[in-house]
Amino acid sequence: MKKVVLLGSTGSIGTSTLKVVEDLPERLCLVGLAAGGNLDLLMEQTARHRPSAISLQDPSKAEQARQRVGQGTEVHSGDEGLIRLATLPEADIVLIAIVGTAGLQPALAAIRAGKDIAIASKEILVMAGETVMAEARKHGVRVLAVDSEHSAIFQCLDGKPSHSVRSLWLTASGGPFRRLEKERFASITVEQALKHPSWVMGRKITIDSATLFNKGLEMIEARWLFDVEMPRVKVVVHPQSVVHSMVEYVDGSIIAQLSTPDMCLPIQFALLYPERVSSERVQTSLAKLGRLDFEEPDIERFPALSLARTAGEVGGTLPAVLNAANEVAVEAFCDRRIGFLDISATVARVMDRHVCVEKPTLEQIIAADAWARWEARGS
Ligand code: NDP
Repeated sequence: MKKVVLLGSTGSIGTSTLKVVEDLPERLCLVGLAAGGNLDLLMEQTARHRPSAISLQDPSKAEQARQRVGQGTEVHSGDEGLIRLATLPEADIVLIAIVGTAGLQPALAAIRAGKDIAIASKEILVMAGETVMAEARKHGVRVLAVDSEHSAIFQCLDGKPSHSVRSLWLTASGGPFRRLEKERFASITVEQALKHPSWVMGRKITIDSATLFNKGLEMIEARWLFDVEMPRVKVVVHPQSVVHSMVEYVDGSIIAQLSTPDMCLPIQFALLYPERVSSERVQTSLAKLGRLDFEEPDIERFPALSLARTAGEVGGTLPAVLNAANEVAVEAFCDRRIGFLDISATVARVMDRHVCVEKPTLEQIIAADAWARWEARGS
């Protein structure tokens, strides 16, 4: 039985994780659940799973939770609550699915407490990939990817060293605007950007999939997870989202991982790694699919890809700056304060103004993140 702490239990990845745990009650149990503000859903999840600790971001909601939970469940709040959960003595693995950067400190705390971590929150590795991976090596714990692309690459790599890899190929659905003419990008609405063709996800990542910033963040995430330099991390558009990603080896062989798109599969794989456990949830019929298409990404219509490549190649504090500026710009777009094209324009402007710190400490990364948010709000 693996004991799991789930940070971000009320979100899209969080609720899929609960399905996986409920599919496999003999193999997985939830010992900690953390949410932002969705008190009612967290209470429902707590009643079903009876974790030993829960946490809410807002202290007043945590107080309400205290009145409602039964004995045997501690209630925590805020950033400190996330750290308490990430270091619960009984936990074997901590799955981090909090949108944004709030997952970074809990990820480091879990690693330092000797827990394996499963990362959905790509912002963690984009901001501080080098630090997180170094800490994981030092403490002898695993960093497992929940993102379907990175889970695919991990499965295709199967322990092979970085020098046996020619390229990592991340697949991108291309998002809802794959075929839209450049002239119409300026008038894209929030509603249009929130309609993803193949995945149902949280709001931020859905907008990131429309701009392709999501793929950009994933390129940087892959660079750190698999210790492969940026030029060897490549992107190909694959609209069916069935090939989740591929590894091209130095001998020219390409290994891919395929399945119907469903996040339950990479979540189960990460939680139960290294075992494969039977589940009927995901079924794939290649004959019904009939065809799989691939095309080059259009860097002119989707500048996010080049911005992310630059950030990943320069390294230092620049990836944290790209990530933070994008978060602020996506929020502004969702609030209808800026247009769709302004998202990448804002990120480009903030990156341009940044004085990059090479080999930054965690404090310098956090300072760069704060600076980029401030700069993006002003630009
Ligand atoms: P959602 O917006 O659906 O969910 C976010 C979760 O984070 C919610 O449970 C929310 O709580 C919680 N949360 C936000 N802030 C805090 C906080 N300060 N403390 C505790 N909990 C907090 O996002 P997704 O599930 O879509 O995405 C989560 C992460 O996973 C993102 O980094 C995303 O890029 C990544 N990811 C998502 C995929 C997907 O298919 N959705 C695929 C691959 C990666 P509440 O709702 O209660 O406020």
